[in-house]
Amino acid sequence: MAAVTLDKVRKVYPNGHVALKEASFEIADGELLVLVGPSGCGKTTLLRMIAGLESISGGTMRIGDRVVNDVAPKDRDIAMVFQNYALYPHMTVRENLGFGLRLRGVDKAEVDKRVAAASDMLGLDERLDHRPAALSGGQRQRVALGRALVRDPSVFLLDEPLSNLDAKLRLSTRVEIARIHRRVGATMVYVTHDQIEAMTLGQRIVVLNGGVIQQLDTPMNLYNKPANLFVAGFLGSPAMNLFHGTLRRDDGLRLVMADGSITLGVDAPALAAYIDKPLIVGLRPEDLLTTADHPGITERLRAHVEVVEPVGNEVFLNMRHADEELVSRVPPHSSIQPGTDVGLGFHAGRLHFFDPETTS
Ligand code: ADP
Ligand code: MG
Repeated sequence: MAAVTLDKVRKVYPNGHVALKEASFEIADGELLVLVGPSGCGKTTLLRMIAGLESISGGTMRIGDRVVNDVAPKDRDIAMVFQNYALYPHMTVRENLGFGLRLRGVDKAEVDKRVAAASDMLGLDERLDHRPAALSGGQRQRVALGRALVRDPSVFLLDEPLSNLDAKLRLSTRVEIARIHRRVGATMVYVTHDQIEAMTLGQRIVVLNGGVIQQLDTPMNLYNKPANLFVAGFLGSPAMNLFHGTLRRDDGLRLVMADGSITLGVDAPALAAYIDKPLIVGLRPEDLLTTADHPGITERLRAHVEVVEPVGNEVFLNMRHADEELVSRVPPHSSIQPGTDVGLGFHAGRLHFFDPETTS
């Protein structure tokens, strides 16, 4: 077990591309940390730097107490599971699981013991004597996980390990990974571009964009207190509603938009600096309330309902308010029909404010 510490870690590829700008954070011993961001933001680069597969251009990387900047991958006590895991087709599951250990000279009794433990944890007992070709995609992915597990490393690195699986298997394997993490208690760094995977799996999440860390926090805090517009828009599905306007003060604070205005119902001192300046106001779909479903709520704006999407235990109302597309998450019993106009309100405490000048 070990913590992983990054201190001003940078990556500049030989062609001059800056893939990671000064990342400083610590992955606690035993933590499951998720690295999330859009394609090309530097996730794999960062993971490969922890693994030692990519050189570090600046700063210090530690695993435990040891500076590993110049330590070879095989001496870092890490195991990595890739998106495109390759199993040896001519070997059985048992041989695939044990191969890395045998290569390291681990004796047969110990190999057998560790393979049995991993296979038990992953539910592969019935498949040990089969070759990869005879396995389902999900079982192959488990073997790939098992190969990392048998190594019993201090740190597991997983790079989009579920992206080749179909939606249903992704879900069950995701739960499997959380379970494994709890059982082995090892430090895990899990890379994904999928915000739902990140939110459900991560104890803490690093949101990365363009090689820059946007925010590092628990899923709850990221969702409730996004540090900037990028984080606000990236996490949450459907995405946060955003109102673009200028903040004015008359009776109270109002956001004046190209077509209409919204009384915010707040008087946060922090907003004083934005009076008469552009401001973006955000509201999660579950916080944009219809007056029909919430009779006690003050109507702050009206919108035209375009599409009603029932998704099981809730319904998404896709609406239009002037130029802005809005989404509200309403209860399944709501009787709001497409083609009608609805009144909308909110609890002022649920509003998010973003500076259009400084947020990326
Ligand atoms: P992610 O895993 O988040 O999709 P990567 O870490 O693979 O992103 O890549 C981050 C950025 O670095 C991308 O713009 C990518 O094109 C670039 N990149 C990756 N590998 C190299 C390389 N060997 N040389 C130059 N640029 C690279
Ligand atoms: Mg990648």
